This record gives sequence, C-alpha cells and structure tokens, in this order.
Amino acid sequence: MDLADLYRDVIVDHNRRPRNRGPLPSASHRAEGNNPLCGDRLRVYVDMKDDVIRDLRFEGTGCAISTASASLMSEAVKGRSRAEATALFAAVHRMLTGDVGATDTELGKLAALGGVREFPARVKCASLCWHTLNAALADVARPVTTE
Ligand code: ZN
Repeated sequence: MDLADLYRDVIVDHNRRPRNRGPLPSASHRAEGNNPLCGDRLRVYVDMKDDVIRDLRFEGTGCAISTASASLMSEAVKGRSRAEATALFAAVHRMLTGDVGATDTELGKLAALGGVREFPARVKCASLCWHTLNAALADVARPVTTE
C-alpha cells in the first residue's frame, strides 16, 4: 500500500464514520460555516476552558472531503490550546495551498488531505471546518462562508 492509498483510506474512513459528530450541550463557543460552491454546511461546537479545547463536535451536511476534514480536525485539536489549534490551522492552510513537505510530521493524519491541493475547488471543502472553528474561537456570530 503506498501513501496515496493510505491517505485515501483515511478520508473514506472518516467520511463513513465521522468522529465527534453531534451536538455538544456544554459548548462555550460555536459557529456556522457554509461553502456555497459545494453546498457544505457545518456547525462547530467547542467546549473550551482555561484556553484549552476540552471537547469539539460538529454537525451538518457536506461532501466526503468536508466531512472527513471536520472529523480529522476534531481529533487533531481536542486537548490543544487555542494557540496550538491556530498553529495547526496555519500548517493545514500551508499544506492545502501547496507548501507541504516539512509540515508533514506536525500534521499527522491531517496530511491525508494534502492531495486536495490539486483540486482548487475542493480546498474550500477541506478548509471550511477550520474557518468555522476559527470563527467559533473568535466568537463570530455571523456564519462564515468560503465565498
Ligand atoms: Zn464539499
């Protein structure tokens, strides 16, 4: 199995069995995000205490990439500080916009989404959850959109 197959399997698995999907009654932060280009709609809930993301869940409907990305993000940022989550978003953004390589170790399983950068329209599917998380942490009331 080569790396491309492994990455494909990670995305298929997280789309079929999304982790941390559902409501989060204890959420201290929440936001909505829309990607009109594809029709992806997400709500991200964050339970944050002392600047640490104790829990994160998401709801919504979207394509396989947006669902897998939200699932992978939820696993990646749980237990992290706000600053660590922001740094991870920056690393994901670099990966999705072309500058991969050195950031792979830091990204862990999130690297599975790297292949998306060859399909510019899908980059918005993969980054929607991160923009929505950002809005949640910044207490932005208005839904964010990729357009
Ligand atoms: Zn999509």
